[in-house]
Parts: sequence; structure tokens; C-alpha cells
Amino acid sequence: MNRQLLQQLPKMDVLLAHPAIASAQEELPYYALKEAARTALEELRRGILDGTVEVLPDLDTLAAQTTARARASCRPHLRAVINGTGVVLHTNLGRAPLGEEAARAVYEAARGYSNLEYDIDSGRRGSRFSHIEPLICSLTGAEAALAVNNNAAAVFLMLSALAAGKKVAISRGELVEIGGSFRVPEIMARSGAQLVEVGTTNKTHLSDYRRAIEEQGAEILLKVHTSNFKLIGFTEEVSIADLVALGREKGVPVFHDLGSGALYDDPALGVPEGPTVEESVRAGADVICFSGDKLLGGPQAGIAIGRAPYIQAMKKDQFARVVRIDKLTLAALEATLRTYRDHALAGRSIPTLAMLGARPETLESKARARAEELSARFAGKCVFSAAPDNGEVGGGSLPGVPLPTWVVELSPVSLTVSALEEALRAWETPIVGRVSRNQYLLDVRTLTDADWAEIIRALDMILN
Ligand SMILES: *Cc1c(COP(=O)(O)O)cnc(C)c1O
Repeated sequence: MNRQLLQQLPKMDVLLAHPAIASAQEELPYYALKEAARTALEELRRGILDGTVEVLPDLDTLAAQTTARARASCRPHLRAVINGTGVVLHTNLGRAPLGEEAARAVYEAARGYSNLEYDIDSGRRGSRFSHIEPLICSLTGAEAALAVNNNAAAVFLMLSALAAGKKVAISRGELVEIGGSFRVPEIMARSGAQLVEVGTTNKTHLSDYRRAIEEQGAEILLKVHTSNFKLIGFTEEVSIADLVALGREKGVPVFHDLGSGALYDDPALGVPEGPTVEESVRAGADVICFSGDKLLGGPQAGIAIGRAPYIQAMKKDQFARVVRIDKLTLAALEATLRTYRDHALAGRSIPTLAMLGARPETLESKARARAEELSARFAGKCVFSAAPDNGEVGGGSLPGVPLPTWVVELSPVSLTVSALEEALRAWETPIVGRVSRNQYLLDVRTLTDADWAEIIRALDMILN
């Protein structure tokens, strides 16, 4: 133990009186600086005691470290990051970013009272679903609708309210696990529904469902969209339209967990092809569930639409209260859905749709222009080039659907690619890109002009 070093350790009040810390008080609260100073001194003391610290930093350095530590402790833990991965619905980065209108609606709903459950016309209690139900019905053509916390909740609510104690037929090819711990067979068991497995993993025919009804007494047919994987080779699944036709013939309701839920198959909306809510409604499914923050491009929510008696029973179920949608989400969902009344507007102003709909030519010229601009700015420090790449939608949406994209490739001259990746990730607004082919890649699809301005600020610091 170095007694002399311990004695040289500055006193707390000496450190706090340092000009750098005194001036930092203009932007940082005193408690945070004090806490940071205490922790810094404590760490040094422990280091001296266990022999890992043999020289003390000078007071200026210590003050700068303390200020940096205080600043970091005041930063929110959940914060904005720049998504340079090109994955539009990046589950780890918060899935769908909201459009301006939706974000503003959240702000307005957050900062005051609202008519959340108040009927302004009658002055009496109202329903929180009233803000979105007519809108969803008019957009989808469904009889009734409700929204809950997320689609996992919507599916569970559908099963527990409508299928508990009943035999539910589902294809073996659709007994999937969706993101972490949502496994269809287990969710069904928890809801009280009895699983009747139909067909095989790769092929299920309509006759399999017919046998499930006729021979095994299935009372409900359930179709689950296999969102996060794609079967290739010899496969066969039954379309929702054929399933509904069979259901009608046999007097058995058909439920559809659509998962991602693009509303329409309209090129103006920019969504690569896949099953749509419109298609499922047209087929006549009795209840359809889909996510608010996948291809719909809204907030985290689960939407269930379908025949009024079923939706009514779901609204009345005890579990509905457990998975109730909150007012901020409702505000964002209503604003997002309103945009859909004009498809061209939705395609432009809902970020998910705008990013997915970006044309390859546009992405190419963006990538080329950025690479050129950056090459000029950081000549001799980093090599930049534009290149085509394969993107993905993400968020367990449209697996296997190709999404050709363009990236800017970065090859730093006097820095390793992984050091560059780390430094960009550690930036004030963390920048998340991809490392591939021993280069650092930034996909232009998910980057805005404001993002690029921040990336340039970061590169100015890191490369210079
Ligand atoms: C994503 C998904 C879910 C879960 O939806 P969340 O909104 O993430 O809760 C359920 N079913 C399917 C088919 C999905 O794709």
C-alpha cells in the first residue's frame, strides 16, 4: 500500500472547487458533480489500496473526468441512437419510429388532460376505444376493432376470451416462436385453448383441417403468419380464403394472427409484398390480430378487428384490462391511422413506409453523393465508397423478401474497423452500423440528413 499516494489524494472540496467543475455547474446539477467526484476519488483510493493505481492523475485531468462522469450520469438511459444498419424495423432499436404527426400527438396527450374515457357530447363516461374504432373499421372494412398493448397481448386476449376450453386447429407449420418467449403452443395452453395440430411441418392441406373438424372436433381454425422464418422447398399452406370457406361450410370461426399487418397491398405505401390486413378482411376471417409497430409503422400496440360479437367479448374479458392500451399509444396510433386515409401521404409521412419504399436508384445516388462528400472531407484518413447491398425489413416481417439497398463503406486508414465501430457506438448519440467484408457499413436507407450531420461530427472527432 502506498501511504504517500493516499495522502496526495485531493480532498473532495478541493476537487469540487476546481474551475472546470465550478463552470460545469452552469449545465450540470451540483449533486451529480458531487456524486461523480465522490465516486472518482473512491475509485482512486481503492486502486491505491489494491496496488492498481501507482500514479495519481493531476487535478485538471481528475476534474475533467469528474465532469464527464457527471454528464454521463445525467443523460437519460433510454436515448436516441442513429440506425445505420438499414434494418427498418430493428427490434433492438425500437422497431418503427413514429412520424411527426404521431410524435406530436403523443406530446399533446402527455402534457395535459384529455377525453381519453370521456364523451364530450354527453358529458359522460366514454370508451378509450372510441378514438380509434371507427377509424380502424373504415380503413379495414371490419365490423369492430379494439387495440391493446401489443400484438402478443391481442393474440392472447383473442384466445383466452374466445377459445378457452375449445379445440383450436392450427397447422404444424405455424407452431412458431416469435421473438424471445412467445411460443404459439405455449400461449395457447396458457389461454386455456386446446391445441389440435394439423398437417405436417412443411405441408398442410385443406383436407387436414377438414379432418380436424370432422374427426377431432376442432371448434376454431387458427392461422398464424410465420413472420420470422420462411419455409422453402416442398411446402404447402392453406390460404386464409380457403380456410374461411371451410370454416363457413362447417360453421367454425376462423382466427388469423397476421403479425406484421401491412394494411394494404398498394405500391404507394412502399411495403414489399406480403400478406395484408385487407386480404384477410376480404377473405372474411372472423378475428384478425396485427401489430401496431411493424409494417403499420405506428406505436407498439396490438390491434384486433373482426365480427362485432367476438370483438365485444374480447373487450369485456378480464384480461383486456390487464393489457389495456395507454393514452400516449392511443394518441400515436390514432395519428398514424389517420394518415392512412391518403395512401400517398402515408407512404411519404410514415417513416417505416417511406424507408421501405425508397427506390434503389434513390438509395444509390444518396450513397454515391455521401461517399463523395465524405471522401473530400476526410481525404487521407478514411476511404469511402458506395456499394449495393442486401437489406432486410426486420422485426420478424417479410423474411426472405429481398430488399436491395445501398451502403457507404468506410475503411479507416490509421484505425481498425472495429475501433471505428466502437468509437461511433460510444458517440454522444450512438451510431450503429454494420461491420462486413472488413469494412464499416452505413446503409443509407435508414439514415436521415440530420443523422448524417451527426455522423460527420462524430467522424470529425474520431478520424482527426
Ligand atoms: C410479431 C408477432 C407477434 C407479436 O407481436 P408484438 O406486437 O411484437 O407483440 C405475434 N404474432 C405474430 C405472427 C407476429 O409476427
